[in-house]
Amino acid sequence: MGIYDEPHLQRGPANHAPLTPLSFLVRAAAVYPDKPAMIHGERLFTYAELLERCRRLASALRRRGIGQGDTVSVMAPNVPAMLEAHYGISMAGAVLNALNYRLDAKTIAFIFGHAETKLLITDREFSPTIKEALALAARKPIVVDIDDPLFEGGEKLGELDYEAFLATGDPADEWAMPDDEWQACSLNYTSGTTGNPKGVVYHHRGAFLNAVGDVMYFGLSSHAVYLWTLPMFHCNGWCYTWAVTAACGTHVCLRRIDPALIFALIERHGVTHLCGAPIVLNLLAHAPDSAKRRLDHPVKMMTGGAAPPSTIIANMERLGFTVAHGYGLTESYGPAMLCFEQDDWAALSLAERTALMARQGMEVATLAGARVVDPVSLRDVPADGAAIGEIVLRANTVMKGYLKNSAATEEAFAGGWFHTGDLAVRHANGYIEIKDRAKDIIISGGENVSSLEVEEALYKHPAVMEAAVVAQPDDKWGECPCAFVALKPGATATADDIVAFCRANLAHFKVPRAVVFGALPKTSTGKIQKYLLREQAKSLAP
Ligand code: ADP
Repeated sequence: MGIYDEPHLQRGPANHAPLTPLSFLVRAAAVYPDKPAMIHGERLFTYAELLERCRRLASALRRRGIGQGDTVSVMAPNVPAMLEAHYGISMAGAVLNALNYRLDAKTIAFIFGHAETKLLITDREFSPTIKEALALAARKPIVVDIDDPLFEGGEKLGELDYEAFLATGDPADEWAMPDDEWQACSLNYTSGTTGNPKGVVYHHRGAFLNAVGDVMYFGLSSHAVYLWTLPMFHCNGWCYTWAVTAACGTHVCLRRIDPALIFALIERHGVTHLCGAPIVLNLLAHAPDSAKRRLDHPVKMMTGGAAPPSTIIANMERLGFTVAHGYGLTESYGPAMLCFEQDDWAALSLAERTALMARQGMEVATLAGARVVDPVSLRDVPADGAAIGEIVLRANTVMKGYLKNSAATEEAFAGGWFHTGDLAVRHANGYIEIKDRAKDIIISGGENVSSLEVEEALYKHPAVMEAAVVAQPDDKWGECPCAFVALKPGATATADDIVAFCRANLAHFKVPRAVVFGALPKTSTGKIQKYLLREQAKSLAP
């Protein structure tokens, strides 16, 4: 009898437990009951208190009849209730649906119906949108208001405040870990720039694993103080909602991106880690000097969600931040790849090193694989830094699928790989570099123009603060690059200056034909809304 066949070498309760991020909180409260778990303004909650509040939330939900498989939606900035929702809702066996607070009422009403939201926890700040969404919704959820003292104004819409709702629960009530790690734990809607958004379903196993990866790669320890500059609704805060707790670090809540407040909180609480889209880095780098503070301790910042131009990385380093760059999507629980820094990069010039760091990198250990392939044949493109293919992923940290949408799920998983829709090259050292989203690539005279490459050149212009490049229809070339540029405060430049600068730094067919100045439209997660710019470019076409 071989080692594989011995009947007693079996899976059982002693050697196999469903993976769930709920175990992180229980353990943190046992190991460090008195340690600061969560800070919000002047309020501090220890891990013992955080666990108690989450247990109360679970109990209160259960007592209202919310349980196994029910959806609880939360519309809130990064406040304690949003973090507690990440544990308390799962403890009740229910599924957390963290809403993107920049969505419009119609989309939110769609989500309430599609997700079959039973209960909604909502912050006063968003009551105008939620009121309208509730009026549109066919079935109204129970509404609980977050009455945050750090926000003034906004109407209460529900029958109960969040704190009063917690008081209806008993922390001594029984609750259970999920008995199956494949059970859904959260539901995140993609932004849906075309058509209705899709509901991405996460399971406990994936949430556990991606959080462990976060801890590993961001160097979180029990001394970590994590500032919530990334919205918790975005892929559950790239799973840091669970990761910081796994490390027994401290969560510092933050209602809005305000550079002066961010610098002040870094100083006051000794913040060691924060995350954000490149736009957040840019806001910090371009904050007025009166808002900036000298960092007196090491601070790591993870960026991702969009390609960070190398100048943005360089600016943050100048301020004293250590920057790391990750890549992922909602469907991969956030972080899936990381631009791992190699030791010999330290000897490179700042420009060379930040150019390498702007690549999306390679898979993290919690991912089974990332490839760049021909989307139909699934054959790998050569690692020559030139051939473009689609990034496909395979992992325990890829979503279960899209809620009530088998066709989209099958399409996304075609050939046994998750298709990201991102176009990239693979360099000789194995690192993957995104060139565009499939829909953003510009095809001029039959040649592919990567909008990211043109943007990278624009960001090097000393007057440019932000840049986005999209396709503009052109009779002769099919499409031409059109640049949208926001200048730094007080800086000046003409379209001719910008074009001349690009001509000196790019192949001529990649040079923008038109340059439009002004603020750039962005999504709640800081991504530039290229579809709006594409429409504008089209309307401006000669
Ligand atoms: P949305 O689809 O609403 O933008 P996601 O967070 O799911 O929300 O977006 C994932 C997409 O963001 C990826 O498919 C990719 O196009 C882009 N993205 C994420 N991280 C990076 C990165 N580091 N560099 C470039 N693009 C990125």
